[in-house]
Amino acid sequence: MATRDIFNRPLQDLRISVTDRCNFRCVYCMPKEIFGSDYPFLSRRELLTFEEITRLTRIFADLGVRKLRITGGEPLVRKDLPDLIEMLAGIDGIDDITLTTNASLLPRHAQDLVNAGLNRVTVSLDAIHDDVFKAINDVDYPVQPVLDGIEAAAQAGLNPVKVNMVVKRGMNEGQIVPMAEHFRHTPHILRYIEFMDVGNSNGWRLDEVVTAAQIRDALNATWPIEPLDPNYTGEVASRYRYRDGAGEIGIISSVSEPFCSTCTRARLASQGQLFTCLFGSQGFDLRTPLRDETVSDGDLAEIVQGVWHKRRDRYSEQRTSETAPLQYKVEMSHIGG
Ligand code: SAM
Ligand code: SF4
Ligand code: SF4
Repeated sequence: MATRDIFNRPLQDLRISVTDRCNFRCVYCMPKEIFGSDYPFLSRRELLTFEEITRLTRIFADLGVRKLRITGGEPLVRKDLPDLIEMLAGIDGIDDITLTTNASLLPRHAQDLVNAGLNRVTVSLDAIHDDVFKAINDVDYPVQPVLDGIEAAAQAGLNPVKVNMVVKRGMNEGQIVPMAEHFRHTPHILRYIEFMDVGNSNGWRLDEVVTAAQIRDALNATWPIEPLDPNYTGEVASRYRYRDGAGEIGIISSVSEPFCSTCTRARLASQGQLFTCLFGSQGFDLRTPLRDETVSDGDLAEIVQGVWHKRRDRYSEQRTSETAPLQYKVEMSHIGG
């Protein structure tokens, strides 16, 4: 029997952030001015260990979680990540494990990840032109190795690869059509994401959001698209296909067309806090009870259940351009996307 919150939403998905570190400094996520060389990243001791993550995930699975997404920071900078995937894949009830990555380290690890039990991968790529992409990742990283990462994942059996592109006005809206052009006629599914006000570092403004409607207009003007039925209830991306048969795309409209009413996602931050919303300010500390020898799995299950039962988050449905900058929110690199 699934654990349900105040609005009757079941606890079904768990996003696990395995590190707050990253080898990129995407301007909308970890801007250099804030995440510089003196930034206090978490120490090894502060991070949950693989054993701790696995123990918690087993408890979440008992409470109804079926799908896991491994994220970060950049999850592949965490040493020996395939070992964690293998441990998680062995948990009863878990039937889908996905990884979100910037793909820079995918060519090296794709096959090990698949062998360990990874089912799917989402690669983030915000532009197909080098100059735009380099200006976004802010570490002068070119596009080609990311494309190589996508191919390595596909070769290893993680087909189709989902490709996430965050669209921000003034940053890359001119890449909507070129990205479509690149991924049309491939098995990979490009998904456009509205720029969100996660955390307090990225200086979010409502007028910088390129809305789902504007993205649809840009595509329709070049290659008309038509809607597809969702694969399942609560799917985050709205699905479309090109009318000319060139494949599928998705649009994630968390700002202009929010989907809180079907949100079944819990998030575990890298230092062990449980968040029930991407826009949470304070997570519930699970690391302290986890490291207390007197606390049993049953006690931990009760804690998680208690947090979910009280959940009333529907931030995206309530957001306004006035309130969004005022509220303190956890950074994306801590909680994961
Ligand atoms: N480093 C990995 C990556 O980039 O795929 C995983 C972590 S990253 C935080 C997860 C996803 O969140 C990425 O697709 C990223 O583009 C997206 N993201 C980060 N900040 C965002 C924002 N302010 N609005 C929308 N998406 C954002
Ligand atoms: Fe790193 Fe991903 Fe954030 Fe870019 S979006 S800075 S790759 S965590
Ligand atoms: Fe879920 Fe919070 Fe996003 Fe709404 S705003 S969809 S509750 S994570």
